[in-house]
Amino acid sequence: MKLEIDQRGLNAEIEALAAISDAEPPAVTRIVFTPTDLKARAWMATRCEEAGLAVRQDAIGNIFARWNGADPAAPAVGTGSHIDAIPNAGKYDGVVGVLGGLEAIRALQRSGFRPKHSIELLVFATEEPTRFGIGCLGSRLLSGTLSADAAAKLKDRDGETVDEVRRRSGFNGDLQDVKLPKSYYKAFVELHIEQGPLLEKAKTSLGIVKSIAAPASLRISIEGSGGHAGGVLMPDRKDALCAAAELILAIENAARATGAADTVATVGVCDVFPGAVNSIPSRVGITVDIRDTDKARRDGAMQAIEGASQEITAKRHVSIQSELLNADAPADCAPEVRRGLADSCREHGFPFLEMVSRAYHDSLFISRIAPTGMLFIPCRKGYSHRPDEYAAPEDIARGALVLAESLAKLSE
Ligand SMILES: [Zn+2]
Repeated sequence: MKLEIDQRGLNAEIEALAAISDAEPPAVTRIVFTPTDLKARAWMATRCEEAGLAVRQDAIGNIFARWNGADPAAPAVGTGSHIDAIPNAGKYDGVVGVLGGLEAIRALQRSGFRPKHSIELLVFATEEPTRFGIGCLGSRLLSGTLSADAAAKLKDRDGETVDEVRRRSGFNGDLQDVKLPKSYYKAFVELHIEQGPLLEKAKTSLGIVKSIAAPASLRISIEGSGGHAGGVLMPDRKDALCAAAELILAIENAARATGAADTVATVGVCDVFPGAVNSIPSRVGITVDIRDTDKARRDGAMQAIEGASQEITAKRHVSIQSELLNADAPADCAPEVRRGLADSCREHGFPFLEMVSRAYHDSLFISRIAPTGMLFIPCRKGYSHRPDEYAAPEDIARGALVLAESLAKLSE
């Protein structure tokens, strides 16, 4: 079998998809279920149909594009990633795994290979938490990690529920039907940019993921007391933003205090109400994103944050409500998938690193229902979720080649 990746064609498709965006180039913004996202999905579905794949979409908008194998009833071998993008993001996050996965399938088709198990490209819906506050909604539902009822009620910033938004976008099926049976996939492999600097530093163009870090996120609301910036004297203040400022530093400290480089915590949203120059902030909403490769250590940091909240509540006479949005366990990648990827790298003489994924991906959830692995390629300086995110075409093509060979082996 002689496999050839059409590097130029793949790169042109990445550029074409990047042009379907709500941001000025080179930035990409594609928030789930916006007209732009729907246009990108339609574009993607057309590319899959052109490759002769059978396309279906489920009730949350996951797109499945299947190349039927000789034994179509046997569990499929899956690959894929996402095409939604946070505001002001880059071209490669998720997209490399979707268009790279499609090109891997087309390369196998061109080579004359005939799979025994079907090979399926999966474009996950709502990987980014931008709209509904929780990441990987599509794969959480596919794996049964999140119930259909809980998912349906999630709201966006405008107060619209997942159920309202998806139905308006034309996804009217029953969310209960999204969950896949355990035997649906024989194996799953996701190609993705590293979103960190290690591969570039090691001058190595491939990374085989051993484990995926455990993410958790919180939404915290701090209620104080507002008033006139001139009229309310300092001893009488219950300034919600000052309390939030203390809490944010306590969150940073909770991550630093574990002493482990793998513990990371971020407050990326801070909404101040009423947000006027001469008005004491009465209410502040923040989000907390905390991750670790070790679940117990991550949970310890979350307890430290809870302790800090109680101290700040007592000291500043504010109330602090914390809502846990998710606290997921880490995942180990499947040995057989890792071995397949490593064998393919070795056959070509491609050096690779074995590594931890500190970002989480749909693969974290698919790993609950199928043997799953991830293949990383470098991105410049580790930059991701920003417009200057960049992956070299030759690295993308190399990743697609190793992916194609692994899919072929797994589908025999
Ligand atoms: Zn991604």
